[in-house]
Amino acid sequence: MINSSRRFARRAVKVDQALSLIMQRVTRLAFEHVPLEASLNRRLSESVISKENMPHFRRSGLDGYAVASEDAALATPQIPARLKVIDEVPAGSVSSKQVVPGTAIRVMTGSAVPEGANAVVMFEQTEELQADGQGCILIKHKVACGQNIANIGDEIATGQWLMGAGTRIGPGQIALLASLGYEKVRVVRRPKVGVLTTGSELIPPGEPLTPGKIRNSNALMLAAQIQQYGGMAIQYGTVSDDIHEVNGMIRKALEECDMLLVSGGVSVGDYDVMAEYFTTMHGKGMELLFNKVAMRPGSPTSAATVHTKLLFGLSGNPGACFVGFELFVRPALLAMQGIAEPLHPKMQAILTDDFDKGCPHDRYVRGVTSYANQQLRVSALKKNSSSMLVSIQHANCLMLIPSGSGGVSAGRQVEIIPLPYEITLFGREDE
Ligand code: AMP
Ligand code: MG
Repeated sequence: MINSSRRFARRAVKVDQALSLIMQRVTRLAFEHVPLEASLNRRLSESVISKENMPHFRRSGLDGYAVASEDAALATPQIPARLKVIDEVPAGSVSSKQVVPGTAIRVMTGSAVPEGANAVVMFEQTEELQADGQGCILIKHKVACGQNIANIGDEIATGQWLMGAGTRIGPGQIALLASLGYEKVRVVRRPKVGVLTTGSELIPPGEPLTPGKIRNSNALMLAAQIQQYGGMAIQYGTVSDDIHEVNGMIRKALEECDMLLVSGGVSVGDYDVMAEYFTTMHGKGMELLFNKVAMRPGSPTSAATVHTKLLFGLSGNPGACFVGFELFVRPALLAMQGIAEPLHPKMQAILTDDFDKGCPHDRYVRGVTSYANQQLRVSALKKNSSSMLVSIQHANCLMLIPSGSGGVSAGRQVEIIPLPYEITLFGREDE
């Protein structure tokens, strides 16, 4: 059991300070190649610069006739231009003929516009006829130079910068990479993040409850958060509140992983083994960054490095564990993947109801936003205490109630940190 005077002598750092201590120690991971089809949600390890023009030939924008615009620049229904149709080009082919004055070539959407043509007239604006066994068209409206033709490099020019390192690959990036000829993509290796839970009261979700035991929800919640931000979670199970066991498991996990999250045991209880670990191991291969943060929930959140790898001690309380991850682990995980701006984006929203629980420390409250009267609003969710997890499922942001005794009244602006969120997430209430 830890010596109680050391246990209480913890110096709180501010959230921004804690974050900066962490971010200074993050190193970007190496790259690997993955097939394009397996690259969804991965992060590019280098910028993408186009080696090609797109389109790389003059491309017809629709089905019609490629013409020299000068031949029909003055065409009207009364005095139509009459042109001989000398060839036809399906998409994917190239005509061997040239459009010369008085001629037209039939083209399809996506066909290469033949030499000599500088406009495409849509079928609907032409009338086809046969004259002396020769197919002809009449054009009854004036034709402008360049109409319905995508020029070489119109969309993308050779040498154009398209995506930065750290970009998350989504459907738009995949389409772009495919069209530029990438079969494989150079992406940042996925961070391997170990998850270790402490607490002799924990049982796996599959086991029936017995007196004094609770199901381990943090292990899977943290794994889900890790995956959500691009990492790979590796479970190290649950260790009892025993310093030797914990120490051994931390060492093993950090040999195998890039980063380790330990839940539970960081506060000042008699069996808070992580608190003991952080105090007693400092200087013995472990560098403590902080073991207290001036915030609620999750004030005992701790962080250290062990041989350059980050180790987080998150609160066992599920609400605090969730918040601790979002505030401190998420930016580290994103920075490891080379994201340009790994820190949380901050937004402002109008508080819908009084929040009167004043607190000497900044408080991060699970909230849900809405939009009304051209205003982004935010409401605190009920059951928001650090020991509660039921509201996490509904949170789409963390709202910051700044330190101070008064809380914040309805109608005032507060800062929010958006969480990953989909508006299609929720089912119907009556089911
Ligand atoms: P601790 O941080 O170990 O003092 O735990 C604080 C509270 O969180 C206690 O009520 C624990 O039972 C609970 N707790 C700890 N670990 C977990 C976990 N993995 N899943 C759910 N609750 C937990
Ligand atoms: Mg515990």
